Amino acid sequence: MKTLLKNVRVETSYLTENDFTYGTATKNIAVAFENGIITAVFTSDQVDTKTDYTIIDGQNALILPQLREMHVHFDKSKLGIPWTPIEPVKNRVERFTKEIAYLKNAPVSFSQRMENLIHLELSYGVTHFRSHIDAHPAVGQSYLEAAQAVLANYQDQLDYELVAFPQHGLLLSHAYNEMKLALQNGANIVGGVDPISIDNNLEKSLNQTFDLATQFDVPIDYHLHERGDDARKAFAKILALTEETNWQKRVTISHAYGLRDLNKSEQAELFSRLAANQITIISSIPLDFVIPPLTKLKQAGVKTQIGCDNIYDCWSPFGNGDVMNKLNRYAEMFDLTSQKELTESLELVTDQKLIAPNGWLKSGMPANFTLVNATSTAEFVARKLPVSASYFKGNKVK
Ligand SMILES: [Zn+2]
Repeated sequence: MKTLLKNVRVETSYLTENDFTYGTATKNIAVAFENGIITAVFTSDQVDTKTDYTIIDGQNALILPQLREMHVHFDKSKLGIPWTPIEPVKNRVERFTKEIAYLKNAPVSFSQRMENLIHLELSYGVTHFRSHIDAHPAVGQSYLEAAQAVLANYQDQLDYELVAFPQHGLLLSHAYNEMKLALQNGANIVGGVDPISIDNNLEKSLNQTFDLATQFDVPIDYHLHERGDDARKAFAKILALTEETNWQKRVTISHAYGLRDLNKSEQAELFSRLAANQITIISSIPLDFVIPPLTKLKQAGVKTQIGCDNIYDCWSPFGNGDVMNKLNRYAEMFDLTSQKELTESLELVTDQKLIAPNGWLKSGMPANFTLVNATSTAEFVARKLPVSASYFKGNKVK
């Protein structure tokens, strides 16, 4: 089916007067797509000649790229379970030990809880998910299999990446074999968590993580909560292994709290190495003073992205599942108030530059986009305007 989404606006440049950027210029376009792929982008005056298309009227909405949730846990959601606060625990080891038993006996099934999470995020306009899925001896492949069964029903609404995640420590929980199985069974990223404070063996833990990545030829998404000197050692080792294995562009460090513990010259040196190795930092924008210096990272050329992480689970009673809410929080925390800073901030959830003379849409791209009733991206981010529609491979999702 040939479809034409007409009457949508794409941003083409900034509007500036006397050095003050007061808005963005937009151009009215029509996007043609077929079999999930954009086939052409027309200007509004070309539309009348296109008679053999099914027409959708975009009603002058601003068209933006697909919104991406880059840190979520499909297997940990408590959504659907009547309100229960989190249990107090002494440390993270106790937290994840209790979590196994809680989820095993949860009054709502895994698939129902995961579907609730997906529907919540779809309702906010997200159509791409990167989810961590626990893989360790206490749960085996059961979470991965259950998640894949749910995802099979959402092929026309979202795409996803699944991270095999040794939540309880690759070494601490003897997870290597289950991680290997998960990667054989369809997980397409290797996860990891704290080589010192959880696994207590920096070298062995990270060597095994990179070993899995190179064996299966997959990227890495490593959760690093280490602080101070432990963080220094962990970053140094991750960088050394990235260079040794030529895993540039394929390594993500999530949380990365320790980046805030470095002095100015250490930051400058480390950030330039992160940038040179194209290592991505993903943050959930925590409010508890552990957030890494995300704007400094970006200025140093390090790619940064964000995700919701906890959304009502055994770790946190908070989280509303709206990644745009996190982006708004990021902009406010880092004082990104200008038109340009707010516009560029959207790249943290779209991985796509927005302002281009002919717009960001190109033939051959998947027909994934977001429609918003906003004058500009900056207004969408700052004013928390709702997504009015989302399309995934040409299918209307929201
Ligand atoms: Zn997480």
